[in-house]
Amino acid sequence: MLSGPLVIDTHEMGRHPGTERTLQLTVPAPAEMGYDVYAVPEGSTIEIELRLEAIMEGLLATGTASARAVGECVRCLEPIDEAVTVGFQELYLFEAPSTPEDADEEDHVLEDDQLDLEIVLRDAVVLALPHNPLCGPECPGLCPECGARLADDPEHTHGEAIDPRWSALSQLAEQPVPSADQSESDIMSDDSKE
Ligand SMILES: [Zn+2]
Ligand SMILES: [Zn+2]
Repeated sequence: MLSGPLVIDTHEMGRHPGTERTLQLTVPAPAEMGYDVYAVPEGSTIEIELRLEAIMEGLLATGTASARAVGECVRCLEPIDEAVTVGFQELYLFEAPSTPEDADEEDHVLEDDQLDLEIVLRDAVVLALPHNPLCGPECPGLCPECGARLADDPEHTHGEAIDPRWSALSQLAEQPVPSADQSESDIMSDDSKE
């Protein structure tokens, strides 16, 4: 028997092609809905609108899930807490294919007329959430010198703090490195070894 908040019993629905059923679910989020840096927190509310439609081979599940995703901006570490809505569609076979050649690891199969949405929902959420969440599309990140959040203080500079004796050195550092020829010949000798 399947268990979990995302297991749906479809027994009453029957298997006649064309039969449809619409469901509204409010469920606690399972663990690992997203990435370490950005995810739907375990136990937070997910609202799901689901349509089940019987076709010859199985039940076609089509739906949208609305939840909150929580994480940190990868540039400035500001907390992010945003509403996310993801769509999904998956066929749940009535029976597992009888011959191994027809079976696919990706297949979803009903068990005792029960359908488990968890994997399908997780895949949809993982696909929808960015790997590198940002607090805003233009987040300038943190000041490399003092760690201040630049979005809060865009004008902020440390120009005055540099000792004039060091500024001459920093100008030197910006000039082309004179050993460029040397490094080029190093690359060529590396090639000849291969
Ligand atoms: Zn940010
Ligand atoms: Zn700074």
